[in-house]
Amino acid sequence: MTDAMARVALVSGGSRGIGRAVVRQLAHDGFDVGFCYRSSEEEAREVEKEVADLGRRALARRADVRDADSVRAWIQRTEDALGPIDAAVTSAGITKDNPLLLMRDEDWHAVLDTNLDGVYNVCRAVVFGMMKRKSGVIVNLSSVAGVLGHATQTNYAASKAGIDGFSRSLAKEVGRYGIRVNSVAPGFIETDMTGALNEQVLEKARQQIALRRVGQPQEVADLVSFLVSDRARYITGAVLRIDGGISL
Ligand code: NAP
Repeated sequence: MTDAMARVALVSGGSRGIGRAVVRQLAHDGFDVGFCYRSSEEEAREVEKEVADLGRRALARRADVRDADSVRAWIQRTEDALGPIDAAVTSAGITKDNPLLLMRDEDWHAVLDTNLDGVYNVCRAVVFGMMKRKSGVIVNLSSVAGVLGHATQTNYAASKAGIDGFSRSLAKEVGRYGIRVNSVAPGFIETDMTGALNEQVLEKARQQIALRRVGQPQEVADLVSFLVSDRARYITGAVLRIDGGISL
């Protein structure tokens, strides 16, 4: 693929974990990639370099997905540098777990603002360009917690179930413009988000997973890569679980 033909992907939360694996995979697939991070400047620069080593262009920008102005500025800067966005993947997300009885208002709002408003802010900013061009792909990272529920995660599960409803609704709205929208719902994936858990909790989780192991970020990136590609051209409005069978 020559640069003149290069496609452009956008990834929120590309500095670490699943988002980072997605940035690398999409670069491998031939995309130039713009991604944002909240505070991990050093990791973001590493990812930029990894993409450059793959022969593609990367643009890392600090942007807070909770803030619509910050997201719009990031996306404008990305389009100015790389061109119109063909594919958008929202991976920025946080957890702040507690039983509801102990839930702090600020933790409820932090999770909803980041996970759900963050998806709205990114999709709201890219969708008009995609509609004008009559093509585009959006993949939103939700979670099996949003499908099954998870004790101590009312905030997180509500945000992720919200993402699935959002994705399905947007898929219905924009399908006629040739735009596909899907959710990817991972189970237990080895990243910083799950890294804080102790071995006892991890072992209990492994016992509930049919494949008896946690997943790797690259395994999620492979699914995102498929959904973004033309091989998934008839898939829209789906919530695809990638969880080693934890939800069976
Ligand atoms: P992670 O390793 O903790 O990485 C989170 C990423 O999101 C980082 O790049 C972080 O940026 C970015 N981010 C967080 N808040 C942000 C904000 N306000 N603005 C911009 N960027 C922000 O998480 P992960 O495990 O890769 O999770 C990625 C997505 O998959 C999340 O939506 C998560 O809910 C979902 N998921 C994960 C799992 C799992 O088991 N890991 C399971 C199901 C679903 P900084 O590096 O700058 O902090």
